[in-house]
Amino acid sequence: MRKALVAGNWKMNGRIAKNDELVTTVLAGLAEQALTERVDVMVFPPSIYVGQVESLVRGSNVSVGAQNLCEYKDGAYTGELSAGMLVDSGCTAVLVGHSERRALFGDDDARVAAKVKAALDAGLTPVLCLGESLEERDAEKTLAVVTEQFETAVDALDVSEIARIVLAYEPVWAIGTGRTATPEQAQEVHAHLRGLLASRSRELANKVRVLYGGSVNADNAAALFGQPDIDGGLIGGASLKAKDFLTICHAAG
Ligand code: PGA
Repeated sequence: MRKALVAGNWKMNGRIAKNDELVTTVLAGLAEQALTERVDVMVFPPSIYVGQVESLVRGSNVSVGAQNLCEYKDGAYTGELSAGMLVDSGCTAVLVGHSERRALFGDDDARVAAKVKAALDAGLTPVLCLGESLEERDAEKTLAVVTEQFETAVDALDVSEIARIVLAYEPVWAIGTGRTATPEQAQEVHAHLRGLLASRSRELANKVRVLYGGSVNADNAAALFGQPDIDGGLIGGASLKAKDFLTICHAAG
C-alpha cells in the first residue's frame, strides 16, 4: 500500500512572520489528529525560507522541499541553487517541471530530465510535475503529452532511480484557476501514468506515488483522493491557509 502524500507548494508567497504562524498552526493540527501516521506531509516554501521552515518542522514528521533547483553542480551560475545546497539546508525533496517553470522560465523536457537526475544524485526526492494545457486537452492530446513529458524525464534513469520519484499530474488549465479536473478526468490520467510505470516494472507501479494538483481545496479533496490511482495532492493556493491545508491532509488520510 502506498502511503498518501500531501505537499504544499507555497509558490512565491510568504514572509517570516506569516510562515511561522502557518507552519506552527499546521503542525499543531497534524499532531492533534495524529495525521502524519497516515499521511506524509511536505511543504515547499520559497528557497530563502527553507532554513526557517526546516527549523520549525524539525522533530515532526513534516518534511521540507524546494520549488526548483539548478541542474548543474556548484560553480559559476549566479542566482542559482544546487541540489547539494538544498540538501545542506535541510530539503529532502524538490519540485521539478512545475508548469509555471515550464511556461515562464524555460524548463523544457530536456532541462527537466537533467534536474530530476541532479536531484536524485544528491539524494533528494524529485516531485516531477506533468500536465497538459487546455488546447492540448481539447485536441485530445492529454495522454500523449503526459507520456512524452514522463518518458523524457525518466529516459536515462534506471528502475531504482524512478522508484524514488513522486509524480504530480497537474493539468495546466486547473492550476490556480478554481477549475479542477473531475475525479474521473484525473483518475484516467493517473491510471495511464501508472501503466507507464508498470511497463517498466510492476513493483514500480505499486510503489510510486502519483499526486493530483490543480485547484485542490477543502471541498473537492476527498473525492479526488478517493480515486484508486490518486495518492494525494500537490496543493498551491489552499496550502497557504492552515485550516484548508489540514482539511486536505485529513481527506488524504
Ligand atoms: P493550485 O496550484 O492548487 O493553486 O491550483 C497547484 C500547483 O500549482 O501546484
